[in-house]
Amino acid sequence: MTTVALIAELTAVGLDVHSDRALGPLTTYGVGGNGSCVVKVSSADHVVAVSEVLRRHPGVETLVMGRGSNLLIADKGFDGVVIVMSPSPTENAVTVDGDIVEAGGAMLMPVLARRSVGAGRSGLEWCVGIPGTVGGAVRMNAGGHGADMAASVVDATVLSLRSGHIARVSAEQLGFYFRGSALSGSHVVLSVRMKTAAQDSAIGTTEINAVVGWRREHQPGGRNAGSVFVNPGAGDDSAGALIDSAGLRGFTIGVVSVSEKHANFIQAGEGSTAADIAAVMSHVQSTVEDVHGIRLYSEVCLVGFSADLMTRFSHPSHTSEAHVVAKEHLQSLLGEHA
Ligand SMILES: Cc1cc2nc3c(=O)[nH]c(=O)nc-3n(C[C@H](O)[C@H](O)[C@H](O)COP(=O)(O)OP(=O)(O)OC[C@H]3O[C@@H](n4cnc5c(N)ncnc54)[C@H](O)[C@@H]3O)c2cc1C
Repeated sequence: MTTVALIAELTAVGLDVHSDRALGPLTTYGVGGNGSCVVKVSSADHVVAVSEVLRRHPGVETLVMGRGSNLLIADKGFDGVVIVMSPSPTENAVTVDGDIVEAGGAMLMPVLARRSVGAGRSGLEWCVGIPGTVGGAVRMNAGGHGADMAASVVDATVLSLRSGHIARVSAEQLGFYFRGSALSGSHVVLSVRMKTAAQDSAIGTTEINAVVGWRREHQPGGRNAGSVFVNPGAGDDSAGALIDSAGLRGFTIGVVSVSEKHANFIQAGEGSTAADIAAVMSHVQSTVEDVHGIRLYSEVCLVGFSADLMTRFSHPSHTSEAHVVAKEHLQSLLGEHA
């Protein structure tokens, strides 16, 4: 990659750019190598400026990062442009228009929950339990406590880094499925509009406190990326229960362990490597398959690993016909087929 030229061009338009910047500290696992070009953006104008430069370098790989709470980045890092979404002070407020709450893509989900409740709206209290950004939550169709983004999102404003087009994309066009959407690596969620209902703020605050309390009681703290494996289909036990009954609670390689508190969490101790986390994942996947005959797939996004490893963990729904069609439709809507 022509890192030097790219960095010079991104710097020339006034962006905050770094070469060979460690990506681990930008993720909740805290592991992974360097990004060859890391640019921090804190407004839609910044993202537009990045896309204008990138369109002069069409072969360059891109990685959009929110809070890095669902990312496992390989020890060799990422050779491409990493766009780190950072909320600006002015973009850290929600806008309320009737039943619709709108938030910027870089806003943290707990902030969205609290701001929405503070504005007398209900429906987004569960977001307090998701330690990522709103944009990351749309891409992943994050969910919990009986809710998910698919159920709330009306539409999202999305920019294509490839075409430079910005479009308001409806929930249907976003192609949500369990813990995924039709969005791909060249798409940046700039803002999201979600439907809510009127509610006394005191009731919402009580609900938020209940979600926070439940998370403290049932989930470990420390360095992890939440649930690692997607729950298998209806009728099967949860991924955590399958891992637990396969005797893997506490299984450790180096300083990386299957959590004692929640078997679908992998804890990364001080000095962990991405390779050790991937090795624990591989062991869990093959042991659960041997014991239960069920193959588990990753909910965490893997970046920079070998094609074999990525395929091994990639959920079949990513390549289902419905998903492929939704992806192509979205790419076309965003002017990527021109
Ligand atoms: C303790 C803990 C608990 C968790 N609990 C849950 C849970 O209950 N339910 C759940 O669903 N998840 C959970 N997660 C996972 C994670 O928080 C969510 O997936 C979250 O939505 C990821 O947001 P992020 O900003 O951290 O995204 P990142 O990890 O930075 O990125 C995830 C994906 O989103 C893309 N992305 C990020 N920002 C944007 C953007 N603005 N536009 C386009 N694409 C973007 C990235 O390219 C990547 O593909 C948990 C994680 C932790 C650490």
